[in-house]
Amino acid sequence: MLRLDDLQAVADLILEKDNYPNRVMVEVRLIKAGYSRRKQHKVVIPFWALKRGDDYAIYYTIHEIAHIVSPPLSSHGTRYKQVEDRLLGYWEFMVKRKKVYPRTLYSRGQMVYTTVNPILLCSVRE
Ligand SMILES: [Zn+2]
Repeated sequence: MLRLDDLQAVADLILEKDNYPNRVMVEVRLIKAGYSRRKQHKVVIPFWALKRGDDYAIYYTIHEIAHIVSPPLSSHGTRYKQVEDRLLGYWEFMVKRKKVYPRTLYSRGQMVYTTVNPILLCSVRE
């Protein structure tokens, strides 16, 4: 199972590739839903996401980082998804979504996660 340091390294690399000017700190907590805090430069990942496997935990981290990078108030809309797709591309990930959350996750073209009922439970707050 990945650790906090691993997810921080993912966040650092993704933000560097996207030329984002600030470091964003990753936290892992025993909570139901992850979230991001743009002004605090912080994302919070629920511990259950780490238990779901390395690829899923990395996906979740990139999902939250995309909330920091995407335009304010873009929620899970089209502009958010464009940013998320770009950031996932840096990790050679691709998702097929059911509305927002991944139904299937691919790493370098290989399916690494799939579910009939996607849940991610991300609460979007600016
Ligand atoms: Zn989200």
